[in-house]
Amino acid sequence: MGGIRSAGILAVGSELLTPFRTDTNSAWLTARLNDLGIDVRLSAVVGDDAADLAGALRLALARADLVVATGGLGPTSDDLTRDVAAAVAGLGMELDDAVLAKIRARFERRGRPMPPSNARQAQVPAGADVLENDVGTAPGLWIPAGERIVVLLPGPPAELQPMFDRLVAPRLQALGVGRKIRRRVIAATGQPESAIDEAASPVYRALEAGAVPISTSILASAGQIELHLSAAGADVAAVDRALDAAVERLAAVLGPVVFSVDGRSLEQVVGEALAARRLRIAAAESCTAGLALARLTDVPGSSAWVVGGVVAYDNAVKIGALGVPAALIESHGAVSEPVADAMAEGVRRRLGADVGLAITGIAGPSGGTPGKPVGTVVVAMAGPGSSAIVRTLAFAGDRAMIRRFSVAAALDLVRRTLA
Ligand code: AMP
Ligand code: MG
Repeated sequence: MGGIRSAGILAVGSELLTPFRTDTNSAWLTARLNDLGIDVRLSAVVGDDAADLAGALRLALARADLVVATGGLGPTSDDLTRDVAAAVAGLGMELDDAVLAKIRARFERRGRPMPPSNARQAQVPAGADVLENDVGTAPGLWIPAGERIVVLLPGPPAELQPMFDRLVAPRLQALGVGRKIRRRVIAATGQPESAIDEAASPVYRALEAGAVPISTSILASAGQIELHLSAAGADVAAVDRALDAAVERLAAVLGPVVFSVDGRSLEQVVGEALAARRLRIAAAESCTAGLALARLTDVPGSSAWVVGGVVAYDNAVKIGALGVPAALIESHGAVSEPVADAMAEGVRRRLGADVGLAITGIAGPSGGTPGKPVGTVVVAMAGPGSSAIVRTLAFAGDRAMIRRFSVAAALDLVRRTLA
């Protein structure tokens, strides 16, 4: 085979041809395939219809070295992708005992017998390789079709994405055109995307023109901006050196907004900072109602640095559970620096933690006032030293975004204070 250079993508599912569901898998796969140096030449959405699917698959195979199809691998009769792909590739179906045993075990672990229809998911085209699914029941398939390859992946993004990254990408890279693609992620918080892009753009223009050209893209979500760097070449060590130098340059330009350059999450960085100083944290959350603690405890081992917290949504809880003086709330309002300060100090003292973190704010859409519009959020950190640190922030976005921004700001306050 002359290497995999081109690909077609088929998104399979009748629901994707209605206004109610959108195909997001194709865009995700396109980005990944491009990163592997593979051009996507065509992409189609196909309903759960054997003839339509066979037609689209034949067309894609006529035009591309690789066809990736997502969806239609489930156990029900409208899931046709497996059978149609085998037929188009001219392969018979065989029952794969190992796959069957895995699916059965998955059900048994949940205390349920395997429905007979799930046995269909253990039918494998002869000569195909099974791609294990760690997240769901539908295994993926890697099917040789003459000189070409058909890869079938489950439809749910949460199943497809890890399967592609763990099992498909390495195989494609091995069959690739003799070059490797490497990437780095610089993660930042505390500034809007535009500000970070502006600070970084003079550098990444230079990077594109370097001996190992480095391409960059910026991805924003509420409370986190990521710069993705990638470069390709046959000499992996040279590519890695160029990327490392680029990361160093960009991190220097961006300064303290950068919290990680090695894939660590903000909660991981915060957890490690607390652990390094043998500090334990407790949180009092009003408008985020536990989201900060949920993130802090996403990190394995976080019981070493997380004590617990109080969801202080109602003022009665701020007063009763945290010891915030009622008079403070009356005179300053629940969303105010004195109250946030008292919440942080209260949760620290009452839960016996070294560090107290507090979040109080107006997530909206109602509850705003001219003086404190929706998006006004106060975060506070008490300890480990004597003086508490309080920040009033103004976020834009819907309720969910404001809550996510608030958590990021609170965690970042801890990160920066301990840095
Ligand atoms: P399936 O594997 O066809 O049973 O698909 C299972 C679920 O995955 C669907 O109900 C969708 O929620 C999701 N899904 C399938 N295909 C796509 C797609 N192309 N983009 C986004 N979600 C998808
Ligand atoms: Mg489907």
